[in-house]
Amino acid sequence: MTPYRRLEREVLFTGRGLHTGEECRVVLTPGMEGEGVLLRGRETFYPVEDSAFSGTGRGTELFLPDGTSLKTPEHLFATLAGLGVWSVRIAAEGPEIPALDGCSVAFAKVIEANSTPADDGGKGPEPMALPFPLIVENRDRGAVLAAFPSDELFLSYVITYEGTAIGTQASDFRPPADDFLPLLAPARTFALESEVQALLDRGLAKGGSMENAIVAGKNAVAAAGGLRFPDEFARHKILDLLGDLYLLGRPLRARIFALRAGHDLHCRLVERLHSVRSRKFNTKENEHA
Ligand SMILES: [Zn+2]
Repeated sequence: MTPYRRLEREVLFTGRGLHTGEECRVVLTPGMEGEGVLLRGRETFYPVEDSAFSGTGRGTELFLPDGTSLKTPEHLFATLAGLGVWSVRIAAEGPEIPALDGCSVAFAKVIEANSTPADDGGKGPEPMALPFPLIVENRDRGAVLAAFPSDELFLSYVITYEGTAIGTQASDFRPPADDFLPLLAPARTFALESEVQALLDRGLAKGGSMENAIVAGKNAVAAAGGLRFPDEFARHKILDLLGDLYLLGRPLRARIFALRAGHDLHCRLVERLHSVRSRKFNTKENEHA
């Protein structure tokens, strides 16, 4: 399990959103010890686990209880999960979290520099253990996401983009033995050359550029500075998964296998995890009654 880190002071990120292209900003302030991950709505803060969410678009979008919505939180959330920051207040202005460099390096460098390891063990939220396996799938797409009980978080991803330069890639990430900043944070978001125009036509990817995204064609990849890892695409999918799991508001102990999955299945798994957690708590309440 990644050790907890404590944010020491306020940090601010500004920039265009990946999909809306609008100027956005987000301010992170240290949370009170043990209060968890809070997101600011119109007038107050809400626990991240109280938000509804959708992964049916190109990225993830969350909706706070007062109706406030926020697009594309996954790369910021992956950073916070990857560094072990579980007590933080997040106040976003604008419809989206800034895209910055299309991965987690820009977020991670600043957050790491402004946080310290909680050597006292930290008062982070209790990690969630999985009592039994959970599987979600999209049979039409041949996509599966399976989570199994485990003492540690282990993420394993296989992607297949036939007829493109990506082909089939597989990658694993096991924190904290695998270090987030060098191994996962630099993996950039990507799009297929064949879908870029369709994304723009749908009003998406307006903030995408060669500075923050890789474009994969049939036989070649356009990536500024070249690929950072041979399996950069699969690593980015793990980054997205780690970010979507942050919607739980607590670390997860599970071994997860993903095959051709995406934000839609990630979000469905988080929904299942939420219901497992609330069932467990309801059972406990009933036992005490
Ligand atoms: Zn992503």
